Amino acid sequence: MKRAGFAAVATALVALGANGEAEAQAAYRLSPIMELGAVRALAVELRFIGEADGDTLLNLPTGGGRETTLFRHIADVKASGAQVQATDAPDRLRLVHAPGAEIRVTYRLNSAFEVAPSAGAAEDRYHPMIVGDWFSVLGRAAFIRPDWSSDTPASFAWRGFPSDWTLASDLEHGDLRLGDIGQAILLGGTDLAVTRLGAETAPTRIALLGDWDFDRARFTDDLSRIMTATRAFWGVEARPFLVALTPLRAEAGAYSLSGTGLADAFSVYASTDAEAEDLAPLLAHEHFHSWMPLAVGGLDQEPEALGYWLSEGFTDFYTLRMLVRADVVSVEEAVRHFNDGLEAYWTSPVRERPNAEIPAHFSSDTGFQRLPYQRGAALAALWDHRLRVSGTAAGLDDVLRAMAVDQAGGDALSRFTRAMTARGVDVAPDLKRHVEDGEMIVLPSDMLEPCGRLEMVERALFHRGFDIDTTMAADSVVQGVDPSGPAFGAGLRDGMRLVRREGVLRNDPDLEIIYRVATAEGEKVVAWLPQGPERVTMQRLVASPEAEGELRAQCRLALAGLQEASPPR
Ligand SMILES: [Zn+2]
Repeated sequence: MKRAGFAAVATALVALGANGEAEAQAAYRLSPIMELGAVRALAVELRFIGEADGDTLLNLPTGGGRETTLFRHIADVKASGAQVQATDAPDRLRLVHAPGAEIRVTYRLNSAFEVAPSAGAAEDRYHPMIVGDWFSVLGRAAFIRPDWSSDTPASFAWRGFPSDWTLASDLEHGDLRLGDIGQAILLGGTDLAVTRLGAETAPTRIALLGDWDFDRARFTDDLSRIMTATRAFWGVEARPFLVALTPLRAEAGAYSLSGTGLADAFSVYASTDAEAEDLAPLLAHEHFHSWMPLAVGGLDQEPEALGYWLSEGFTDFYTLRMLVRADVVSVEEAVRHFNDGLEAYWTSPVRERPNAEIPAHFSSDTGFQRLPYQRGAALAALWDHRLRVSGTAAGLDDVLRAMAVDQAGGDALSRFTRAMTARGVDVAPDLKRHVEDGEMIVLPSDMLEPCGRLEMVERALFHRGFDIDTTMAADSVVQGVDPSGPAFGAGLRDGMRLVRREGVLRNDPDLEIIYRVATAEGEKVVAWLPQGPERVTMQRLVASPEAEGELRAQCRLALAGLQEASPPR
C-alpha cells in the first residue's frame, strides 16, 4: 500500500546490514548474466523491509511518452520472504508477506536487441541494450520499484562483472533516493572509456561506449561550454554529472541522433558517424532538461504529452540560445538552426491539430511527436518578444528563473501562468488559440532584428527521390527511384547499391545529397538537390546582408536572447 507503515519500516531497517546500506530502504544490486562468455542479460536484486500491513506493491517499468510497456523486458520475478501476486495492472505486482518481513526480489532484465542496434533500427533505443560485450540501460527501463515516495533512501551496487569491463552510472554516489534509481543511466563494457572534465569535486564524467568518428577534443570543448552556459542560466554551481554516449551502428541510409535528459546525467544515442556539430544541439537540449521541467514544478498534466509544448518546446527554444551563449555555433549556424525549426513547424502535416490530439498519436506518428516541440518553441519566442516589448528586459529568461524559485509551488504550467501574469502578460488567450485550438503561430517580423526580418516565403520541400526504407530493408540496394525526380536526373537507378553517404545528410532541400554507389560498371558518386515538386509557404528569417561588425554583434545578442530591452511601442 502506498506509503503505509513507514515508521515501522524505518526502525526495522537499521538491522539491514553492511556496506553503507543500513540507511537504504531499497537496496539494489546489478550483475551480469553470462552465456558463452558474453553478457546477454542482467540480474537485478532488490532488498527491502516489507510494509507493516503485510502487503507491498511493486511498480514495473512502463516508460512514458512514446513507450508504455517497458516491463516486457523483465522476466523471472522471484521473491524470498514474500509471495508474488499479479494485479489487474500489467505494470504492478503485489507482495504478500509477514508484517515487516525482510524481502529479497530478484529478476532477469532481458535485452531488447540481439546484436548492437543500428542507426536505422533504433526505434527502441530507450529499451535495454545488452549485447554481449557491452550494455546500456536506463533506470526507468531496468528497475522494479516499491510503490513508495521518490524521496525514500536507496542504494546501488555493481556485482560480479568481468574484470576487464568498465562500468559507469550516475548512481555511483551517496545519498541516493528511489527517484534517482528511476532517473538513472547505467552502462558498461570492455570498450567503455570514461573521461573527466571540470573540477575534481564536481566532475562531469563522459562515458563513451565503442568507437566514434567525431573529433573528441571538439566534443569535449562544446560540452564544457554548453554546461557552463546552462548552469549560468539557472544560476547554479557545477555538480557531479554523467554524460553517456551509446553507439548505434552507422548505416549508409540512416543518421540518427537522440537523447534523454536525466536529473544528474544525460544519455545520448547516436550513429557512430555523428558529427560533433550535430551532437552539440542534442547536448544543449538534454542538459536544459536537467532543470526543465522538474526544477520548475514538473508536469502535472495527464497524459503527460499534453504538457510537452512547455517542457519540450521551451527546451528546444533554449537549446538555440544556449548554443549561441556557449559560443558553440556561429551566427550563420544559429540562423540555419532557427530556420530549420521554423520550416519543420510550417511543413508539418499536423501543424494545426489541437493539443488534445497529441497524446493518442504521440507514439506512432512523427508529426505529432514533433508538434509540441515546434509549437512550444514558437510560443516561447512569441512570449519572450512580448515580455521584452512590455518592459521585462530579460524576457522569458526572467520567467523561467522565477518559476524555479516560486514559493507558491504548483506544477510548471501554473507557475508559468503566474509568472507571466505578474509581468503583465495574460497567456490564457494564446493557450486557447494556439495550444488548445492549434492555430499557427506567426512570429513578430522584427523579433530578431538586426539579424534580418521574418518573412513569409515559398520553398521546395525535402524529397529524397528514392525510397530509403525499402532500400535499407533490401541491404542498401536502391529501390523506388522516382523517374521524375532529381535523384533519377543525377543518375541514380533502382538496383544500384549505396556504398556510403559522402557529406552530411540534413533533410535540407538546399543541401546536396551525395552518395557513393556501386553499379554494374563500378562505383560512382551521385549528387542532387533533394527537392520535391511541391512548394510550401512558411515563415523564415531572411538574413540582412549588411549584418557585419557592430550589427553582427547585436545580431548574435538577439539570437542569444541577451539584447538590450526593446523600446516600448
Ligand atoms: Zn527533450
